[in-house]
Amino acid sequence: MEGVLVTGTAQAGLAGECARCLDPIEDDIVARFQELFVYDDSEADEEDEGVSRLEGDMVDLEPLLRDAVVLALPFQPLCEEDCPGLCTECGARLKDDPDHTHGAPIDPRWAGLAALQDED
Ligand SMILES: [Zn+2]
Ligand SMILES: [Zn+2]
Repeated sequence: MEGVLVTGTAQAGLAGECARCLDPIEDDIVARFQELFVYDDSEADEEDEGVSRLEGDMVDLEPLLRDAVVLALPFQPLCEEDCPGLCTECGARLKDDPDHTHGAPIDPRWAGLAALQDED
């Protein structure tokens, strides 16, 4: 009675990088949306913010679509569910080298002794 109810599904291609290892990611998402667009000449309060209006016979889907896609985006995109990320010490990619280790860090107060050990 007061407008047009728009219901739709949008598919979008994603391109980004893994939040842990920075590998490039490509994915598809599906965003669903529904919104009532009120007739332009309806007597709804003009100052009523957040109400979508028809523009003549046209519907401007862009803001609706943008919101739906943003909501469908993963907060922290990952290349795979259990991506081990990067080594915090040297930045090596742990996926390529799962047994990656640097040994126990040397207490700086004992570093002089470690140097003597190396001389032996
Ligand atoms: Zn990753
Ligand atoms: Zn490392």
